[in-house]
Amino acid sequence: MIITIDGPAGAGKSSVARALARRLHFTFLDTGAMYRAVTLAALRRGLPLEDTAALVELAGHVEIAFDAERVLLDGDDVTDAVRTYEISNLVRHAAGNPGVRAKLVELQRAAAANKDVVTEGRDQGTVAFPHAECKIFLTAGPEERARRRLLDLQSRGEKVTFEDVLAKQNSRDDSDRSRSVGPLIAAPDAIEVLTDGLSPEQVVDRLENLVRRRMHKVPNCED
Ligand code: C5P
Repeated sequence: MIITIDGPAGAGKSSVARALARRLHFTFLDTGAMYRAVTLAALRRGLPLEDTAALVELAGHVEIAFDAERVLLDGDDVTDAVRTYEISNLVRHAAGNPGVRAKLVELQRAAAANKDVVTEGRDQGTVAFPHAECKIFLTAGPEERARRRLLDLQSRGEKVTFEDVLAKQNSRDDSDRSRSVGPLIAAPDAIEVLTDGLSPEQVVDRLENLVRRRMHKVPNCED
């Protein structure tokens, strides 16, 4: 069974999708980490992110793997390195590159083959897994998302302000929504879940309920 969780930056997708996968004993696929890993690989090699052909070539050569909850880039643990504010602000180059997207979608499908998976990103229910059995579109208001992002970044020692996080988040949302390939958009058959005012635990409970109904073939996994 494939469960897709798409939505904008800061909606809480990663933590919620990871917790849902643990509860269901499904494999968790963090597809944002893949775009981040390609960006990091380019920076480490001194490749200009605007060089679309070089970025596609790079995406075809680097090895991106997951070891439980760690992200590995050519065998190197980059779990924290891909989550920095710098990478968040540069990832649009890889995300907006059609060739990179094609390669990463291919990797995502291979990683999910014959498995029960919770996968999270922007295009999982629309492009990567259009036939997924259960699709969720997770979202929250921009200020709430920026507040969560700020707390997360500060807990990792980044010196950032709310205004800057909100402005960068809005610009990342705009570029995610407006790109021609794999844009951020809810699949027509996705269930939209608004997380404003809900704790991560409450969101996971809600999603688990939706998924279990789908597993038991209740028509439409909506509650
Ligand atoms: O979810 P996360 O913040 O880690 O994603 C980083 C970036 O990767 C997003 O801003 C988005 O541009 C891109 N992304 C994407 N498609 C996905 C997952 C992430 O374009 N499936």
